[in-house]
Amino acid sequence: MKRNIRNIIKEMTVEEKVGMCSGLDFWYLKGVERLGIPSIMVTDGPHGLRKQAEGADHLGLSNSVPATCFPSAVGLASSWNRKLVEQVGVALGKESQAENVGVILGPGANIKRSPLCGRNFEYFSEDPYLSSEMATSHIIGVQSQGVGTSLKHFAANNQEHRRMSTNAIVDERTLREIYLASFENTVKKAEPWTVMCSYNKVNGSFMSENKLLLTDILRDEWGFEGFVVSDWGAVNERGDGLEAGLELEMPASYGLGDNKILEGIKTGKLSVEKLDRAVERLLRIIFLAVDNHIENAIYDKEEHHQLAKQVASEGMVLLKNEDNILPLAKGNNVAIIGELAQKPRYQGGGSSHINPTKLDNIYEELEKTTTSKSNLIYLQGYHLDRDDVDEQLVVEAKDKAIQSDAAVLFIGLPDRYESEGYDRNHLDIPENQRYLIEEIAKVQPNVIVVLSNGAPIEMPWLTKVKAVLEGYLGGQALGGAIADLLYGNVSPSGKIAETFPVKLSDNPSYLNFPGEGDEVEYKEGIFVGYRYYDTKEIEPLFPFGYGLSYSTFEYRNLTLSKKEIEDTDSITVKVTVKNTGDMAAKEIVQLYVKDVYSSVSRPEKELREFDKVDLKPDEEKEVIFTLDKRAFAYYNVDLKDWHVETGEFEILVGKSSKGFQLKETIYVTSTVTIAQRVHKNTLIGDLLADPTLAPIATKLLKKANKHNPLLNAMGDSEESSAMMEAMMKYMPLRALANFSSGNFTEEMLTDMITQLNEVQEKTIFNN
Ligand code: BGC
Repeated sequence: MKRNIRNIIKEMTVEEKVGMCSGLDFWYLKGVERLGIPSIMVTDGPHGLRKQAEGADHLGLSNSVPATCFPSAVGLASSWNRKLVEQVGVALGKESQAENVGVILGPGANIKRSPLCGRNFEYFSEDPYLSSEMATSHIIGVQSQGVGTSLKHFAANNQEHRRMSTNAIVDERTLREIYLASFENTVKKAEPWTVMCSYNKVNGSFMSENKLLLTDILRDEWGFEGFVVSDWGAVNERGDGLEAGLELEMPASYGLGDNKILEGIKTGKLSVEKLDRAVERLLRIIFLAVDNHIENAIYDKEEHHQLAKQVASEGMVLLKNEDNILPLAKGNNVAIIGELAQKPRYQGGGSSHINPTKLDNIYEELEKTTTSKSNLIYLQGYHLDRDDVDEQLVVEAKDKAIQSDAAVLFIGLPDRYESEGYDRNHLDIPENQRYLIEEIAKVQPNVIVVLSNGAPIEMPWLTKVKAVLEGYLGGQALGGAIADLLYGNVSPSGKIAETFPVKLSDNPSYLNFPGEGDEVEYKEGIFVGYRYYDTKEIEPLFPFGYGLSYSTFEYRNLTLSKKEIEDTDSITVKVTVKNTGDMAAKEIVQLYVKDVYSSVSRPEKELREFDKVDLKPDEEKEVIFTLDKRAFAYYNVDLKDWHVETGEFEILVGKSSKGFQLKETIYVTSTVTIAQRVHKNTLIGDLLADPTLAPIATKLLKKANKHNPLLNAMGDSEESSAMMEAMMKYMPLRALANFSSGNFTEEMLTDMITQLNEVQEKTIFNN
C-alpha cells in the first residue's frame, strides 16, 4: 500500500514519536491507532521461531509455540551450502508468516574468537567471509517471504562472560578485517530490515550508543537503511543511544527511555529532526512488515522437518574414518552406547531455544535404517545429568560391546556445559563420558564416536577410536541424518567452519580471554582461528575447512583469466573437480589467497571463495569463482580504506585450509599511491623504498653525503657501501646534519625536505 510516511510523521505528537522508539512490551513494537500505525511483533531466532505463547523472557525459559528446530548456526555453516541456508531462511520466513511475526531476531554473525564462547553454536564461523556469506543467504531467504531479520549482535560480542559490561578493545584494522567484515557484506548484499546492537562496549563506548559503528560505518559507509534495535536490555543512556543511531529500545522500558528522549528534546540536546529520522526508519520497516503479511499463512511441518534433516546431514562433519570403518554394514551387530542416543542434545540453551514440532529419537532412527532391529542394542553408558562415573553402566556397556561388530558411542556436552549467558572455561567432555570411551576401546576395536556439541572439544582419546562424526547441534531431525550418514545412505559433506585445536592453550585468544574485569583486549589482532594456526605453524587437531567424505575427489585445471591485473580489475578462477569414488557425494571447494610478500603483517592465507558441488561417481564439474580487490586487500588504517600492495599473490584451491591441491600465481598492481609526507625524522630507508621518491632521494643523499666526513670515511668498496646503505636505512634525515660536523646545515636539510615534498605532492595531484 502506498502511503506517505513523512506526512504521517507530521501528524504525530512528540510523545507519539518518542513512544515509537521503544517497545510496547517484551516482543511488540508500539502502534498509533489513530494514524493507522499497527503494532508488529518481533521474536527470536535464529534457527527456528521462538514465539512465546505466554510469559515474557528472553532466555528461553518459558515455552513457545511449536516451530521447526533447524540445526544451529554452527551446523548451517559447516554445510557451506549457500542455497540450503537460504532454503532454511525461506522456511523460517514461512513459519513467521504463519505466526504473524514481522521480524525474526537473527542471524548472529559474531566471529568465533575463542572456542569457549558459550554462544558459539549460534554463530557461523571463525572466518568473516564464510560467516558473512552464511548470514547473507539466511537473510535473503527469510526476507524473500516478506518477513524481516535482525542481524546480530553488532559488534565484537564474542563472549558471554560479563557480556553486558565488558569493553572489547580492538584495534581498527582487526575490527575492520575480522569483526566488522562478518557484518559488512551481509549488510550490503542482503539488506537486513534491522540490525541488533550488542550489549558490550567497543573501544570504550557501549554499542547501544556507539556512533562510529551505528552511524558512521553501518549507515553512512555500508548504506544500511533499516533500523537498529537494542539487544534486550542493552540500553545504557537512551538519549545518547538515539543520538548515536539506535532507533528502537527493546524490550519496553515503560517510560524510562522515552522520558529521557523527551528531556533531551526539551533541553535541546536532541533535535526533533533526529527523532523524526528515527521514526521514519521505524515506520518504513513496520509498514514493510504489514504490507507483506500474508493472512492465514500456513506451512508444511513435515516438509520443514525433511529440510531440517537434509541440513543436518550436510552440516555434520566426518572428522576421522580409520580403515573406512564407516559406513556401517547394515547387517552388522552394533552396540549403541550413551544416553544422548535416547535423549539427544539438538539445540543450545538461551534465547534461541525452540519448542520443536517433533523430535527424532536417534536410536529409533538407527533401528529404522539397519536391516533388523535385532542388530542393535542400546546401553546407557553414563548419566547425562552428572559428571561422575557409574561403574555399573560402564560394565554393562562393555559386556555388550565385546559381543558386537562395532560400538557407536553418543558423546557430547550437556546443556549445563554451554549456553547463552556464560562461557566454558575448558574444552573437556564430562569425565563419565571420557572414561566410557576409554573403557569401551579396551574391549572393542571398532569404536565410532558421534558428537553433540556446539563448539570444539579436546579429544585426548582420539587415537583410541576409529571414527568421529561431529554432529554439532543438529536440530529436531538429527536422528534421521545421523542414521543416513552412519549407514551410508548419504555421504558426509560438511566441513568444519572453525579450527579444532589440540588443546585450549593453542588458541590465539588464550592469554586474553575473557579479559580482566570489564576489559578484554583482542591482543591477537587479525590472527584469529586458522589465520593464527597457519601463520604460527601450530598443528591443529582438525584444521579449518576440513571434513571427510565416503568418496574421493580429484582437482585439476586451475586457470586464471589473467595473470597480471590492477587492483581495480577482477579475475575469474576456474577449476575442475571430479568425483573419483563410487558414491554420489558433495565436495566443498575452497579458495584461499596468500600475499607472497607484504610490508604489513598478514595471515599466511585467507579464505576468499568457496562452492559446494554435487557429483555422481565419475562426474566432473567446472567451478568458477570471481575475485576482486577485496580478495587481495588488507585494511589500511592511514588510508582508512582497503588497500592492495603491489606484488605477487598465490591462489590456492583445495579441499581444506591445509594440504593444497592446486596453486597459481597472479601479479596485482596497486592503483593507489600511498604518499608519505617527508619531515626531518623520515627514515632514509623509507625514502629509498618509496618508488616515487627514491630517484630524487638518491641524488639528494649523494650530494648530502659529500658534506659528511663520517660517511665519506667508510671508503668506496662494494662491501663498505652495502654496509653504509644498511646502516643508513634507519637514520632519520636530521642525522645528515647531526653527523656532518656542521657542513650540512639546517637550511640545506630544509631545502632537501621541501624538494622531496614537492615531488610527492605532484604525484598525488596527478593521481
Ligand atoms: C539475546 C538476543 C535475543 C534477545 C531476545 C538477548 O538476551 O542476546 O540474541 O534476540 O535476548 O530474546
